[in-house]
Amino acid sequence: ARKGKTPEEVVKRYLQKVRNPPEEDCTICMEALSGPSGYKGPGVGGISRAESVGRLAQCGHQYHLQCLVAMYNNGNKDGSLQCPTCKTIYGVKTGNQPPGKMEYHIIPHSLPGHPDCKTIRIIYNIPPGIQGPEHPNPGKPFTARGFPRHCYLPDSEKGRKVYLKNSIICLVLVISQQHPENNYYFIQVLRLLLVAWDRRLIFSVGTSSTTGESDTVIWNEVHHKTEFGSNLTGHGFPDPGHLDNVLEELRAQGITEEDCLP
Ligand code: NAD
Ligand code: ZN
Ligand code: ZN
Repeated sequence: ARKGKTPEEVVKRYLQKVRNPPEEDCTICMEALSGPSGYKGPGVGGISRAESVGRLAQCGHQYHLQCLVAMYNNGNKDGSLQCPTCKTIYGVKTGNQPPGKMEYHIIPHSLPGHPDCKTIRIIYNIPPGIQGPEHPNPGKPFTARGFPRHCYLPDSEKGRKVYLKNSIICLVLVISQQHPENNYYFIQVLRLLLVAWDRRLIFSVGTSSTTGESDTVIWNEVHHKTEFGSNLTGHGFPDPGHLDNVLEELRAQGITEEDCLP
């Protein structure tokens, strides 16, 4: 959390001033950028007319300042901001995953489609608890079904050696991109998942689309393989697209290769 900064200060860090707003609508409130924000809620007083529109510094999308502050206030207020149009992340995005444990180890068996290597098994364990202010129903209990949840990634001795020897992830990535079927890549996926766990982005609290249960721990937008020897659920191997999908989903959470560089 970015202590001591007001929501308006946080939002302004990522904005450039816009003197003459274009003849376009703000896609948050659907009102013209040249006019006032359509947002009428509390907590945004004191924003003067002169600074009412801002351009996000990296992607260039423009919004009413007041609308961005309202959006920020609706999130978990972690000092980060995500452009609602193109999803560019400003700052470090974190989630609301409840407390728990992530562990991993190698098991001496191979996954379908990866005959030459062993397997990384990740074990997530999250106990039930009480929802915090960052959850949908603060103060209410949440359930946690099917834990510990076991997930699988292919591993390989070879990939591990290359990785340790060079300890430069870029090289591993270059090799992997040339041979997407290659297992080196998965070591990197594990590293990125550890970052995602630290930022509380692997799980969330909400309504399970599988069971319909509300106020429960659910997977959060990053797909995991939970089936080992077969693929009856669609969450197993082989799946040639898995690598690219996971990397893309991690990127959408703001987690990229750079997060693993020393
Ligand atoms: P969800 O159903 O809301 O789905 C969220 C995301 O997780 C979706 O993208 C979905 O495709 C994916 N997903 C769903 N089932 C998955 C699975 N088995 N393995 C990997 N990804 C899966 O999220 P949820 O409620 O967290 O997921 C449901 C899964 O949770 C169940 O299939 C099961 O593994 C576990 N669960 C177990 C019990 C139990 O009592 N053993 C009870 C409830 C849920
Ligand atoms: Zn607006
Ligand atoms: Zn944008």
